[in-house]
Amino acid sequence: MLLLGIATAIGVVACARATFTPIADWRRDLCVREAVAVHTPWDAGVHRVLHKLHSRSGPWSRQPLPAIVVVTGPPMTRPGHFADGWICGSTIVLHANAVADAARSADSDRMLATIIAHELAHLVLGHGTSARDPAQLEFEADALGAYFFEKGGFDCAWWVARSRSLVSRSHQYAARERGIIAARYDAVQSGCALAKSGGQVPVEPR
Ligand SMILES: [Zn+2]
Repeated sequence: MLLLGIATAIGVVACARATFTPIADWRRDLCVREAVAVHTPWDAGVHRVLHKLHSRSGPWSRQPLPAIVVVTGPPMTRPGHFADGWICGSTIVLHANAVADAARSADSDRMLATIIAHELAHLVLGHGTSARDPAQLEFEADALGAYFFEKGGFDCAWWVARSRSLVSRSHQYAARERGIIAARYDAVQSGCALAKSGGQVPVEPR
């Protein structure tokens, strides 16, 4: 689903254009009309990271591997909501800008894994059709995402440190946005702590 605009705004600046080729035979719904499914130079990495996260997700690994696709189009699913990615049915959709930023960063695998783990968590938690408080869904996806991240072999202490640095740089934002950034840090920290302690997620696979 959505990463709140604020998180994108303090993320990495979009990089120079890469070449994306539309996937001619793409048939699955993307849930955003302007989104175009594309091949990118990073597809192999995207699939590798998803497979790693999914295959080590404990009970969820018995569910089918979700489809994942990178799209171009306006980086907004609705006005004011910038998205690094979202879920559509059983498909994980990643925006090319976010994937490009992640792939070109010094920590490309971990950057990609934060985005994909977050979306995988939305998917397995059944958030796609949820009418609950959107912010609450983000916190849950961050917590379970950080759990998957650790189980997948990425060190979630890195995600915790990254979230903490966002908190420390959030003074420029309004109180509500600062509250969301702080709550997301708490969520990442709690999911990471659970995974590090060998605990089980208190959620049953559907
Ligand atoms: Zn989300």
